[in-house]
This record gives sequence, structure tokens and C-alpha cells, in this order.
Amino acid sequence: MQGNLFIISAPSGAGKSSLVKAMLEADPQLKLSISYTTRAPRPGEVNGREYHFVSRAQFQAMLERNEFLESAEVYGNWYGTSQVWLQNEMQAGRDIILEIDWQGAAQVRKLFPETVSIFILPPSIEELQKRLAGRNQDSEEVIARRVAAAREDISHALEFDYIVVNDRFEVALQDLLAIVRSLRLNTAKQGQRQAALLASFGIAR
Ligand code: GDP
Ligand code: ADP
Ligand code: 5GP
Repeated sequence: MQGNLFIISAPSGAGKSSLVKAMLEADPQLKLSISYTTRAPRPGEVNGREYHFVSRAQFQAMLERNEFLESAEVYGNWYGTSQVWLQNEMQAGRDIILEIDWQGAAQVRKLFPETVSIFILPPSIEELQKRLAGRNQDSEEVIARRVAAAREDISHALEFDYIVVNDRFEVALQDLLAIVRSLRLNTAKQGQRQAALLASFGIAR
């Protein structure tokens, strides 16, 4: 049985990583793709947990070997999704989350049109700036660059299937989990999952 492929995008600081972490804790059936990046690790980030941290040369070599399903330059660093990992997980029928930017989202949608994409909006630009500063992990220069890029990121929100506003964290989390649950209950999926029950009522697919 085929799992669902979810893309979650947001401007930096909107709360995407915190929300995805909470989703994974609330729903053990979800799995997160760990991206490759040329960005330096932030304090507390562990190689292989938040990202696979690689040099620009390593990233370039992987790109040339076609090892990325998608890749993009975001805020001056390169990010990419491993093709092999994703294929294995999808074949195993898992529900997978890709935490990628809007450029990557466009590439993945072309490859897998059934992908479900979600855009997370901050309640305001001022709040976004506050969260980036409050996270205390990026330099002032990096924060300024990310806030400036946020408007460009947000201009792509309407390309997504769902929009979730992360004002109150708990509400946004429940919204995200509701999207995941409703897709699992889709008739095409349930026709496979509940085939035996349907057959007991004399309904064949
Ligand atoms: P954060 O958004 O503040 O957590 O900052 P990050 O440095 O973790 O991510 C920077 C940007 O890269 C975000 O827009 C991510 O969505 C994007 N990104 C992360 N991983 C990938 C990936 O594998 N592919 C693509 N295309 N974008 C990614
Ligand atoms: P992203 O991955 O989108 O860059 P993070 O998950 O790192 O964002 O969140 C940025 C900062 O904002 C973090 O310090 C996080 O704790 C905080 N944050 C996330 N969601 C909310 C919210 N709903 N209200 C207030 N602060 C939040
Ligand atoms: P950060 O450096 O703050 O962790 O992430 C910055 C941005 O990079 C985020 O918006 C994140 O979604 C994006 N990003 C992270 N990994 C990938 C990836 O593999 N592919 C793409 N396209 N974007 C990514």
C-alpha cells in the first residue's frame, strides 16, 4: 500500500521544524526525510539528525551523481533530498514528510503529482522576525537576510494545497495532524486498508 508524501514549507522562523518535530512525536507512522545541506550546523544540531551536513564539494559530487530527488539554493546554502532514501521509504508504504523550500516543492510536485503540500504562515512579519531573533541561533546578518527573503517565500503560498497559520502552536499542530488523518481516510486508501471489511459487506473494489 502506497503511503502519502507530504511537503511542508515555510519562511525561516515560521515554526516549521518545531511543528514537524511535534507531529512526529504525536504520530509514530510519520517519517521525516533528513536533507543534505552545505549550511554549517547550529549549536545543538547533530549530523544525521537535523541534517546530513556536507561540504560544497561533497554536495556538488552528489548532484553530479544524480543522488538528489530535488535540490535548491536557499538563503545562500544548498539543500537537497536523498533520492534513494525516499524511494525505499515510499516502497515500504510509509507516510513521509519533506521539510523543503518552495523551489524544491515545485520539483517534487512535478515528479509526484499526488504529493500533498502544506505552507505554514507566521501570523505577521514582525512575529517572524521576533521568532528568528528569539531562537538565538543565527547571526543578525543571517536573520536580516532571512526576513528579507520571507516575502518572496510567502509569495508562493497559493501554490500549495493547504495553508496553516502558526499563531497558537497547539492549534497549528492540530491542523497539521488533521490534514494527515483526513488523507489516510481517503476512499482510495481505505479501499486498500479496509478491503477485508468491505468484502465482508459484499463490496469488491
Ligand atoms: P529554518 O527554516 O530556519 O529551519 O532553516 P533551515 O536552514 O533548516 O532551512 C533553510 C531552507 O532550506 C528552508 O526553506 C527549508 O525548507 C529548505 N530546505 C531544507 N531542506 C531542504 C531540502 O532537502 N530540499 C530543499 N529544496 N529545500 C530544503
Ligand atoms: P523554522 O523551522 O520554520 O525556521 P522553528 O521551528 O525553528 O522555525 O521556530 C522558530 C522559533 O519560533 C523557535 O524558537 C520556536 O520555538 C518559535 N515558535 C514556533 N512556533 C511558535 C508559536 N506558535 N508561537 C511562538 N513561538 C513559536
Ligand atoms: P535552515 O537552514 O534554517 O535549517 O533551513 C532553511 C530553509 O531550507 C528552510 O526553509 C527549509 O525548509 C529549507 N530546506 C531544508 N532542507 C531542504 C531540502 O532538502 N531541500 C530544499 N529545497 N529546501 C530545504
